[in-house]
Amino acid sequence: MSRMARNWIKLRELALRDLTVDDGFWNQRLRLVTQEMIPYQLDSLMDRVPGAPPSRCVRNLRIAAGLEEGTFEGFVFQDTDLAKWLEAVAYSLTRTPDPALEKTADELIELVCQAQRADGYLNSYFSTLYPGHQFCNLKEGHELYTAGHFIEAAVAYFEATGKEKLLVAMCRLADLICQVFQTPEYEDAVPGHEEIELALMRLYELTRRERYRAMAYDFINRRGTTDYLSRESTLPRFIDVWHDRNPYLPEYGQAQAPVREQTAVEGHAVRALYLLSGMADAAGSFEDESLLEACERLYENVTQRRMYVTGGVGSSGTLERFTADFDLPNDTAYAESCASVALAMFSKRMARVTGEARYMDTAELALYNTVLAGVALDGKSFFYVNPLEVTPSFLKPATDKAHVAPRRQKWFGCACCPPNIARTIASVGGYVLFTGDRELRLNLFIGGTYKARLGETPVTVAVRSELPWKGRVRLELKARERMEGRLLIRIPDYAERPRFTLNGQELKPETEKGYAVLKLSGRSAKVRFDFDMPARLLYADPRVTADAGKAAVKKGPLVYCLEETDNGPGLAGLRIDPEGRLRERFKPELFGGSVTVEAKGQRIVWDGGLYSAKPPGRTAATLRFVPYCFWGNREPGEMAVWVRLKC
Ligand SMILES: [Zn+2]
Repeated sequence: MSRMARNWIKLRELALRDLTVDDGFWNQRLRLVTQEMIPYQLDSLMDRVPGAPPSRCVRNLRIAAGLEEGTFEGFVFQDTDLAKWLEAVAYSLTRTPDPALEKTADELIELVCQAQRADGYLNSYFSTLYPGHQFCNLKEGHELYTAGHFIEAAVAYFEATGKEKLLVAMCRLADLICQVFQTPEYEDAVPGHEEIELALMRLYELTRRERYRAMAYDFINRRGTTDYLSRESTLPRFIDVWHDRNPYLPEYGQAQAPVREQTAVEGHAVRALYLLSGMADAAGSFEDESLLEACERLYENVTQRRMYVTGGVGSSGTLERFTADFDLPNDTAYAESCASVALAMFSKRMARVTGEARYMDTAELALYNTVLAGVALDGKSFFYVNPLEVTPSFLKPATDKAHVAPRRQKWFGCACCPPNIARTIASVGGYVLFTGDRELRLNLFIGGTYKARLGETPVTVAVRSELPWKGRVRLELKARERMEGRLLIRIPDYAERPRFTLNGQELKPETEKGYAVLKLSGRSAKVRFDFDMPARLLYADPRVTADAGKAAVKKGPLVYCLEETDNGPGLAGLRIDPEGRLRERFKPELFGGSVTVEAKGQRIVWDGGLYSAKPPGRTAATLRFVPYCFWGNREPGEMAVWVRLKC
């Protein structure tokens, strides 16, 4: 049976220079990016942090530019750390102008341009170690991934500052890629690590140069239809750069089938979700029904079968990959911070292309939980891996928990996550509002001032929000002329008893794809959106064997967890009463102000040996939960998201 033709809508995000986030919850995080993460990460990139693994990122580019003698050090994709840092700086400058920081960024952009070759090629690894051997190992070389991050940085920096230098340089790099990857030698080549697809789509949206969009589409359409990556090592131009002796698995690189025929999200989680982000962009841009259907199918697979309750994805530490439906172990979870960044990016794109609010539930989940958990409250240490259960004494090297850290680390030899978290937090305002044909859509409830257009009429939208602690949102819209159009407000999946008023009048709005629809007319409007979002227990599909017989606490977008510092050791010996009331308390001194949750339950009393025929005793206990995004910011100890049910 053929489906009804899709009514393609065109929704746009606001440019970051057209918005100022001013929000009780997010201001702290944004300040952290500007005041701590950006300066700290610059020090890391320049090897100025005592006791942290050296990055060598800037030094590598200086060597490539001929400004310094020496040998490249680090991963093949080491350049991307600077690219993501520049992107974070661009977003930060739109909110907090800082001439000194901008000057530093300009100087580093100058360095990037000096490290670029005359033909547009840019990659300090290959330029210094294998000059003249570009694109000889797409499987492991990460050149297109690195290029993608530089292109994203260039678009962001131009949009933030109006400065063209990096953009012009990265258009030359993109032009080189478009030329090389259309030659007969490369006509079936695909990137080993996706990212270039979404970056070229972004560059197309800014420049409207058709070749960028066409190249992104080609890379997407080729994936899974060619054996290029499997046979690449037999080509005369191949150079072994990664020394990875694992055989290449097509599913690891999302090449198990043509993308339109894929039924499950497979392989390396970040790659898969960057690919899906590019696919969603391309599907919307080309109005490609079968491509969007694949995105919808794969989104369902990942969010209904392969995602942690925290929005973490990619459960296996081996190969940083997706494994099987419902295989979501808590204590060996990988759930890379970058993978949740990528999940938020994909989900936002799906909301934009389809106009469905539910995708924003996932974007919000990933942002408020795993992405925020990735950085400490002082902005100076980071999680790469985001477990849902930690017993510090179990975390030994050379075991299947070797990748799990009980506390955030200063930096990483492979430092993809810290700058990725920085650019994501710095650009969170981009998730808040979409504009469409005579309509505005409020997606996330983040306070601030947003300058949009309703048709041709400029409209300022002031948002005040008490999330994530209270379901209380206030909007004030103002225009110089009369506004005519629609305001759509997402009703989140956790909202109970949603209530709306427009200019003081209560109303029961119609809903459309998960948004409440309000009609705007006149030069101003005041909207109140209230809902209840009490802390509640969530249960998992019993096929998630790790969570069977357990519950997790969630309040609004925030998932909660138990920490040893509030509950004593032996968290596995606690039982929660599913009938008991969850008591919420706002603690202004905790984590800069946070709601905690207390639940009634029991603690197991054990007086046997390792095993005992005598059933354990029980005593009454109060279980104290804190938001997962803040875990690991006090004394190190045990942590658990899922808690066993009292029986
Ligand atoms: Zn990462």
